[in-house]
Amino acid sequence: MEKAKGKVISVNESLVGVENTKGAVMNGEVAYIVLEDGKRLKAEVIDVKPGKRVFLQVFEDTSWMKIGDEVEFTGLPLSVRLGPGILGTVTDGLQNPLYELVKKEWFLERGMVVAPLDESKKWHFTPKVKTGDTVSGASVLGTVPEKMFEHKIFVPFSLTEDYIVESIVSEGDYTITDTIAVIKDGKGQTKSLNMTFDWPVKQPMPFHKRSVPKETLPTGMRILDALFPIAYGGTACSPGPFGAGKTVLQHSIAKHSRADVVIIAACGERAGEAVEVFKDFPELIDPRTGKSLMDRTYIVGNTSSMPVAAREASVYLATAVGEYYRKQGLDVLILADSTSRWAQALRETSGRKEEIPGPEAFPMYISTLISAFYDRAGVEILPNGQKSSLSIIGTVSPAGGNFDEPVTQATLLSTGAFLGLSRELSDARKYPAIDRLDSNSKYPSLISEEEVKYLKDVLKEGKSIASNLLLMGERGITNEAYIAYQKSELLDAVFLQQNSFHDVDGVTNPERLRIMFDLIKYIIDAPLHIETKDDIRSHFNFLRQAFLDWNYLKLDDPKFEKQKTKIINLVKQKANVKENV
Ligand code: ADP
Ligand code: MG
Repeated sequence: MEKAKGKVISVNESLVGVENTKGAVMNGEVAYIVLEDGKRLKAEVIDVKPGKRVFLQVFEDTSWMKIGDEVEFTGLPLSVRLGPGILGTVTDGLQNPLYELVKKEWFLERGMVVAPLDESKKWHFTPKVKTGDTVSGASVLGTVPEKMFEHKIFVPFSLTEDYIVESIVSEGDYTITDTIAVIKDGKGQTKSLNMTFDWPVKQPMPFHKRSVPKETLPTGMRILDALFPIAYGGTACSPGPFGAGKTVLQHSIAKHSRADVVIIAACGERAGEAVEVFKDFPELIDPRTGKSLMDRTYIVGNTSSMPVAAREASVYLATAVGEYYRKQGLDVLILADSTSRWAQALRETSGRKEEIPGPEAFPMYISTLISAFYDRAGVEILPNGQKSSLSIIGTVSPAGGNFDEPVTQATLLSTGAFLGLSRELSDARKYPAIDRLDSNSKYPSLISEEEVKYLKDVLKEGKSIASNLLLMGERGITNEAYIAYQKSELLDAVFLQQNSFHDVDGVTNPERLRIMFDLIKYIIDAPLHIETKDDIRSHFNFLRQAFLDWNYLKLDDPKFEKQKTKIINLVKQKANVKENV
């Protein structure tokens, strides 16, 4: 069938009006605008009006575009190329490789076309089917090693009927474009398959079987793992004002979480920030494997200098790749920073289309899009019974830090954990500045429910005494209340606060979290006998410093146990406690 054609009739930044001159055009299909010099700019049909008028959102810089430029429609939706070789790469939202670009410090030229996956690299393929076998979409034809994983080569997911394997290559080295299998349908039609296939990014990959997220995904961050946990297959949002620590939080989770694959969708919070990620990550060592952190990471980047439409493409590209690695049997985590930038792109496009705006000029359908995005996370039971998962943590950066705005609200309703970053805490440098009392999570924590309640009660009591202190001063409250306040402050300072930039304190594994929790509970439970407020304060100053020193010692450091004993002795000096922790 011949492809549809058109001509540019209006240009409004990334929204381009086209007159459809030939063939029929469908919503969501990809089109190319052919510039005078032959360059082709990628775009997506976002509106088909009656009377041959079509609107495109263009993913690339439209500065050189002119009225009358030719438009070629492809008839195909915006898609991702799936196959081995995605891990360890950095691409833009259209899957153009950016990694080389970062090293050489130049940007992809306008309209330049680069293969999304390396087509010259050879992969060692081991077949898992033989001639005569019956296969269909998502059957495994064979495997290739990709970094530390066995990458399954699937029959494309879109092929839903049964096929017979006509031929399959023997074990050996092949590129992703080499034919590895020929399959035949019921009517005798054959198809040649290689190691890749395309998938429309906006279409969720159907779950084989979906299960409820109920296992904690350890992040190495104590306040999360103890109080506001994330689950494998779960979702979380972290809204917060500018500078409150959203990006630091995401990067810490990217480095330390117990996910197999981490996908970072960096939607240009500030200029240069996304580029920093590209430069930083390849140099970081994965503490668990001793290899480059990039080996299990894929970064999709948009800087604020890229056109807004590209941000939307990034979010969907990251999600489709995440679903694909979940189909591989892995635990995948997507970190999207910041989803507000994506929402703003939608608002801009919607405004240019002159749609009826919803609250704060965001399009009416914004909450539907946000909830559909988070709904693609989840636990999947694969045909072989294996459990895999896709978890999503998105940051939201509401203007003025006001959580009542539509994007924060829609995200709140669509996610299972709410990690609200507070200006007050970040100003006091109490990092991570996650609100201790207003945040919540519906997922199970690494400590028991009673223990979670215990910590929250200590914090609540501390907060109410703190407001009395403010009103009445130290003299206005009893020693008993002052001790309870100091205990809650200690809990905050040594357990909830964590220095993301310190090698040891920056990550707390589940084993250490348990030891720390037990010790902090021992301190809080110990009945103290101190006479004056000054002595109480100085006692807690000693304790805090001893505990912080302990936080900086490795678990296997011989000094670790010694320091713990020192803390216990400090408590015993002032209390009538006999038993040890
Ligand atoms: P946001 O993304 O919310 O605008 P950032 O994540 O860039 O904010 O954080 C701003 C600054 O706050 C960081 O550059 C860092 O100095 C400090 N910061 C944030 N989180 C932490 C943390 N967990 N530990 C230490 N410093 C932090
Ligand atoms: Mg940020």
